[in-house]
Amino acid sequence: MKACLIHFSATNVERSINLLIEYQCPQCGAPATLQETDRLFDCEYCHVKSYLVEKDFFRYILPNAAPKNKNLVYVPYWRFKGMLFYCLSQGIQHRFIDVSHQAVQSRYFPFSLGFRSQTLKLQFVSQETNGRFLKPTLSLQKVMEIFDKRFTQALPKPIFHQSHIGETISLIYSPYYIDNKIYDAVSNRAVSSVLPDDFSIDLFPGGPPDWRIRFLPILCPNCGWDLHDQPDALILHCENCNSVWQPVENSFKKLKFAHIPGEGDNLVYLPFWRIKAEISGINLISYADLVKVANLPKAIQEDWHDIKFRFWALAFKVRPRSFLRIARHMTLSQPREKMDPTLPDARIHPVTLPISEALETLKTNLADFIKPKKLVQAKLRDITIRPKSYALVYIPFDDKIHELIQPVYKVTINKNQLALAGNL
Ligand SMILES: [Zn+2]
Ligand SMILES: [Zn+2]
Repeated sequence: MKACLIHFSATNVERSINLLIEYQCPQCGAPATLQETDRLFDCEYCHVKSYLVEKDFFRYILPNAAPKNKNLVYVPYWRFKGMLFYCLSQGIQHRFIDVSHQAVQSRYFPFSLGFRSQTLKLQFVSQETNGRFLKPTLSLQKVMEIFDKRFTQALPKPIFHQSHIGETISLIYSPYYIDNKIYDAVSNRAVSSVLPDDFSIDLFPGGPPDWRIRFLPILCPNCGWDLHDQPDALILHCENCNSVWQPVENSFKKLKFAHIPGEGDNLVYLPFWRIKAEISGINLISYADLVKVANLPKAIQEDWHDIKFRFWALAFKVRPRSFLRIARHMTLSQPREKMDPTLPDARIHPVTLPISEALETLKTNLADFIKPKKLVQAKLRDITIRPKSYALVYIPFDDKIHELIQPVYKVTINKNQLALAGNL
């Protein structure tokens, strides 16, 4: 029974699926198909653009093929797609997972969605959907604990720290109907044996759907021009007044940003989060401290005590192995070139990893560069990191045939890996 808990978890192949969602233009009603990661919707019929927002996570339903007279019950499933990092004495282990798990604990319904969500087009939950929506009673946190337990079984103990960098969390409702058995309304097949007499679906808390997709007009709050970026961008740009905007609740919030000017005529700028944090349990306030903590082969210079330490985290998705390597390189480099508080006049890679997820990486990043490694065992659990402020910084990379290269900080990113990361 446990085998169906996780519908696919692929550590080596790191395979993942971007779900497809059927959508209707809120302006003209024209049908469209979105990728799960799309946020900026540009209707190809009426050309009205809107930005999809959610307060916590998106909610979808699977389409049903049930006979017309059936009363549908929608059972919620948590879906988590992202990276897990585990800090061990041997180093950091990572996994990429794409999993689902029931959000209402019941042995009568399947434990996971299986592969169905990958082969069917989903729809957003709307208040017009007929059916009874069961209330999630198992929290996402609880479900993540189940996954952690399962994934850490084979790992050597102790585990000093673990983090979930999950950029895609959603609630997917799967339709069922109930006769003498429970029927999957997607396939019209029974998924339970004959139900006991005392089974009643009314005992599960639920009711009509109380969620709908919300969207924002994409006008720059500052100057009224259209904001721009790629469909999956989490941050939008105004090229007219040179500003950068982050959707927060029902509006766009202005974001502190800058770029480090690059040289060359084939540049692409990648977004990073530069994070100021209060760190306790280890002395890491200045660049001089960093040289000591990471045991860098450098002679500490007097003025390095005055250079404040900052974490650097990726604001874009890439495979877990590269993810940690790039964050470590950037943090150890502590870029302090002069920054220009405008958008660069070159191609910009969209922000696809939010600051909330970047903050999750800080302790893992620290564990990755502390040396000697026995310090991880001795100290990591006692270290606390309290983020204080952040800024978005665009770093120039040379666009070569197969790679993007940052010559100053010596960071190389495989272009293929970056392109494939769209699915992550
Ligand atoms: Zn339209
Ligand atoms: Zn503007």
